[in-house]
Amino acid sequence: MRYHSTRGKAPVLSFEDAMLTGLARDGGLYIPETVPTLSSDQIADLAGRPYEEIAFRIMRPFVGDAFTGEEFAGIIGRAYANIGHDARAPLVQLGPNHFLLELFHGPTLAFKDFAMQLIGQLFEFSLKRRGRKVTIVGATSGDTGSAAIEAFRGLDAVDVFILYPHGRVSEVQRRQMTTPSEGNVHALAMDGHFDDCQARLKDMFNDHAFRDEVSLAGVNSINWARVLAQVVYYFSAATSLGAPHRSVSFTVPTGNFGDIFAGYIARQMGLPIDKLIVATNQNDILHRCLTTGAYIPDGVTPSISPSMDIQVSSNFERVLFDVYDRDGAAISQLMDELKGGGFKLSQGALARLSDIFVSGRASEDETKAVMKDMQKRSGEILCPHSAVGVKVANENLGKSPMITLATAHPAKFPDAVEEATGTRPPLPLWLADLYERPERITRVENDLASLETLIRERRKA
Ligand SMILES: *Cc1c(COP(=O)(O)O)cnc(C)c1O
Repeated sequence: MRYHSTRGKAPVLSFEDAMLTGLARDGGLYIPETVPTLSSDQIADLAGRPYEEIAFRIMRPFVGDAFTGEEFAGIIGRAYANIGHDARAPLVQLGPNHFLLELFHGPTLAFKDFAMQLIGQLFEFSLKRRGRKVTIVGATSGDTGSAAIEAFRGLDAVDVFILYPHGRVSEVQRRQMTTPSEGNVHALAMDGHFDDCQARLKDMFNDHAFRDEVSLAGVNSINWARVLAQVVYYFSAATSLGAPHRSVSFTVPTGNFGDIFAGYIARQMGLPIDKLIVATNQNDILHRCLTTGAYIPDGVTPSISPSMDIQVSSNFERVLFDVYDRDGAAISQLMDELKGGGFKLSQGALARLSDIFVSGRASEDETKAVMKDMQKRSGEILCPHSAVGVKVANENLGKSPMITLATAHPAKFPDAVEEATGTRPPLPLWLADLYERPERITRVENDLASLETLIRERRKA
């Protein structure tokens, strides 16, 4: 399988190289040349199988000959052994024809573990085979950083540095980043906001001498391997509820459009998905775009669902590439217009998006009301992100079973949950001592040169 950039000007790469590269050199995102499809019989045959086996069957065609079957099965087995639920991604029923897909049983209690645990193992395998090492640097508002540190801790071929805004992540998120004691992972508390962390990260990637010297690699949500890992649970959930013999719909709490784009790929592969519903919080640029066709950022307002507080939704570019008939030049032009303030979709592109996607938003009050209501009606305690999803899903219930993705465990956002429901959600037993574990924090300034010096000194090389 070969991978192309959405802007059409970067080298065409194999799965392994696209994964290790992350962002394409022309600023675009990698996407498979063709999306493999499964027959109805092949989909039916997934029902009831262990998660790892479904993962193997779904991802194998995208990976091509990068690994033998045995190697790839080993990678998947090691990745998902750390998910603290035998079903990996269990479904629970919320109401008539409405189901919650719990994606929060991984080591850092958010769905990002599904992708990050896998790419930790993929990186380790590929780099060892090539006799290479890389330095992963990431910026986080909380969930991505904790998932990355957890996935890469103790692996030989990688050093990981995560920049987070000092004093601006939740205590659970911070402790998940600062308590792992392995020498190859480093949580860096930077002065400033998330945007400052992200800006210094970009500066490092643009400093080509530094980039080459430390073999810089990225694992943010534009990495194709992360999207691919997320395709699997759409198949496991839908086949549990009767697909391919009946179609289902999904509602996805969305920020960077990565998780829901995985659903779009599942649909292209042949999974009978009726509607894919984009749920946003008050930062509703995607909802506005899907209803009006205009994509115009207007600033981020912090919310109780911080992992969706996003103004430029990076993976949206992948779906635009498709609805613009894979025309890299057209996508480059839209992205240039975005730099100048925003863009307007063509009528044709908007119509094609509207065939598949529906959207909705939840205000802060609506989100809290749903958390309270769901606790009363089903006993389910939702995290604020999942609550945004349930609110929008409730507006779109119909004949097909509705599956709402629960993206984080309520105990990851205990203050917001307690405020809405009156109940402080406890951490799972295996994480119960998180508040007692010793922390290791490095304070850093918002300054490129001193960050680069620190990374040079600390990495094992
Ligand atoms: C990252 C995240 C999201 C948003 O996912 P995208 O793939 O960026 O759309 C939603 N909820 C939680 C808890 C997250 O960590």
